[in-house]
Amino acid sequence: MAAFDDLIAANREFAADFDLGGFDGVAHAGVAVVTCMDSRIDPLRMLGLHQGDAKIFRNPGGRVTPQALEALVLGVHLLGVERILVVPHTRCAMTTNTEAELRDQVAASAGQDASWQHFDVIADQVVALEEDVASVRSHPLIPKTVAVGGFVYDVDTGLLEQKF
Ligand SMILES: [Zn+2]
Repeated sequence: MAAFDDLIAANREFAADFDLGGFDGVAHAGVAVVTCMDSRIDPLRMLGLHQGDAKIFRNPGGRVTPQALEALVLGVHLLGVERILVVPHTRCAMTTNTEAELRDQVAASAGQDASWQHFDVIADQVVALEEDVASVRSHPLIPKTVAVGGFVYDVDTGLLEQKF
């Protein structure tokens, strides 16, 4: 599987001085982040955090999906999460395309029909963020003592702006 050779070689270097063996899975900064899969986002570094500090859940658009809520409930009750950040970002493909446009682009790339593939596009990012923050805050298994914030990350300045 030559496709992975460079990555496995890098992993061997990574593991050579690995010192986190036996480390627990608790979020040591008490932080969970729901954000987009976008490669311009480095969720730990943008918050001054390090490995072991936070639970990170990513998907296209950084949406609070049922799976995200599942992760947050586990994070809050079993893994030390006390602060939750929901972080979509500027120039996100899920906000700048319609579902039809994404289907067309994928179909062109795949060389076959993609009309059956669902894409969870976002018509209004701020409205979606408000709904997502509300769904976390109102979740029956996420206590009011947990701080929940909705932010937009600017991929061109690196700045977070709190909206909710
Ligand atoms: Zn995105």
